[in-house]
Amino acid sequence: MNYLDFIETMRALPHFREFGCVKCGTRHRVHILAWGFDCVKCKIRHKTRREGSIGTEIQDAIDAVLAWAEKEEGKDEVQRILAWRAKMNEEEPDEDPPARGGGAAQSRSR
Ligand SMILES: [Zn+2]
Repeated sequence: MNYLDFIETMRALPHFREFGCVKCGTRHRVHILAWGFDCVKCKIRHKTRREGSIGTEIQDAIDAVLAWAEKEEGKDEVQRILAWRAKMNEEEPDEDPPARGGGAAQSRSR
């Protein structure tokens, strides 16, 4: 996947996906970065991501970006950029990235 494909995929990526329990069928809303979930009804553990030495899913790329952003070197600058982006989105809500699915975007009260 090249960078442009990655960016387009990220913009369309939902924050949550629905999974059904393999035993009882109960539907679960699970964050895409979660590695699994436990069924609330029958307590069975379900894996939602593949584990490997080198990840091949978009979630693995997001994990790498988050790990990079959390590194001590540059961490403060990342926080400043995130704060600036939040301020810009507050001032110009029309400039929000197109991907607004999932729970996080709905927490804004306007
Ligand atoms: Zn279940």
